[in-house]
Amino acid sequence: MQTYVNVIESTAYINGCWLEPGSRPVKAHYSPLNTELLVGSSTQLSTADVDLAVQSAKQALPSWSALSGMQRANYLFKAAQMLEDHQEELAQLLTAEMGKPLGEARGEVNRAVVLLRYYAGEGLRSIGDVLPATDGISHLYTTRVPLGVVGLITPWNFPVAIPVWKLAPALIFGNTVVWKPAEHATIAAARLMQLLEASGLPPGVVQLVSGSGAVVGQRILDHLDVTGISFTGSDAVGQQVAQAATARHAKYQLEMGGKNATIVLADADLERAADTIISAAMRSAGQKCTATSRVIIEKPVKAQLTSLLVERAKRIQLSDPRDSGCYLGPVVSQRQYASILDFIQSGVREGAEIVAGGQAKMEGEFAKGYYIEPTILDRVDPQSTLAQEEIFGPVLVIHEADDLDHAIQLANGVRYGLAAAIFTHSHKHIHHFVNRIEAGLIKVNGETAGVEPQAPFGGMKLSSSYSREQGRAAIEFFTQVKTVVITP
Ligand code: NAD
Repeated sequence: MQTYVNVIESTAYINGCWLEPGSRPVKAHYSPLNTELLVGSSTQLSTADVDLAVQSAKQALPSWSALSGMQRANYLFKAAQMLEDHQEELAQLLTAEMGKPLGEARGEVNRAVVLLRYYAGEGLRSIGDVLPATDGISHLYTTRVPLGVVGLITPWNFPVAIPVWKLAPALIFGNTVVWKPAEHATIAAARLMQLLEASGLPPGVVQLVSGSGAVVGQRILDHLDVTGISFTGSDAVGQQVAQAATARHAKYQLEMGGKNATIVLADADLERAADTIISAAMRSAGQKCTATSRVIIEKPVKAQLTSLLVERAKRIQLSDPRDSGCYLGPVVSQRQYASILDFIQSGVREGAEIVAGGQAKMEGEFAKGYYIEPTILDRVDPQSTLAQEEIFGPVLVIHEADDLDHAIQLANGVRYGLAAAIFTHSHKHIHHFVNRIEAGLIKVNGETAGVEPQAPFGGMKLSSSYSREQGRAAIEFFTQVKTVVITP
């Protein structure tokens, strides 16, 4: 067995202290790129541990929220610097733990640095409005105050960027945090927490609570002192978050799955569309909530674009994600691996035709990890499981459309509404698409995946809870409004 050398001795951080496992269960984490590689081990906390974490966050709240925006910003600037200084090391750990190609992992850490600096800037921006009072003499204005103790529950697919895009706004607006990372991203989470600690954050401002969703996550949902819960993950768990939060009147925010479509019209630049769609579908092994998983092609160019996509998919070499040049590495876990292969098989049973890939890669060292060939399926029934469910793997399905309206109807014909793209040069068609498509993030001649950190991000339908994260939108979730009237 190989052991990944890292500096993580504990994965639980409460009230400024790293917790020794003691009698708590400990879980070993093996890498998806080679399951003989031990990346680290995590402490499985109990509900009593979570209670302690919430209590610490509650105690730290009055002094943290009393700091000025500028004072809190200084911590975020320092945290950004710490991440920048440790970018390579954090990226390598992230890659070892969940299999994201190193180049993308570096990009992810960079993004977190930008997010921290962006939100540090929020500490000096406006937090309210002045309104004209009808009596002509009163001072009528709004201001914003923190929610209080917030619970952040994060997924494994962006182990650094997603926690940071929740932590940074939570902190700058004066909240204290109990953060539960995903099981497959716990070691990177602990390293990120070490870097936040090194930036000087006072004890109790952020706690990291590692363990299972059923115990640790559920306790955060049920704890009466957790005023707000920001969740990113699957829609199945998101429903539980919504129910638990509603039952005890907590504020909640859900960002969930996608089944994102890219439409390609007959006038499009097909070479550019093919490059972009393959990148959107296969990068991060398709494990982005905004990955393109369906391509809807206008009939006259269907055969030509299909062959361009297949040619590109067949050229992709699966490789070790620790290599800087890796384009496609493993998927995150045995469970995800089995589920993706099942989806492909169920698609074939439902009549789809595999035109590229379709198999696990088992030669040599690949057999030790969770590698799946870049896969494209044609003739996919739009109502089939393959076309309707989020697969979260390097799998792209092709549909044919008669015209733009038919393409939009197919694109909208799923429960999700996270991201969508179109390739065309027609302004008329672009506007029609933007008006009719049911998606929170829309790209024209671009990749469904990826959003600028300063722009709001979130989905429609089952992809979201009608809320938005990032950019200025984050203030809506992490604060509450006070309306003030001062009459002389
Ligand atoms: P998941 O729902 O299995 O887990 C997400 C988090 O919820 C984890 O930390 C998990 O431990 C926790 N959890 C599980 N059960 C819980 C419970 N009963 N109570 C409280 N917490 C619980 O999701 P995942 O597999 O980690 O991530 C993949 C999913 O995330 C995909 O569906 C993907 O589309 C989605 N995602 C969405 C976005 C977005 O912004 N829309 C971004 C990234 C990922």
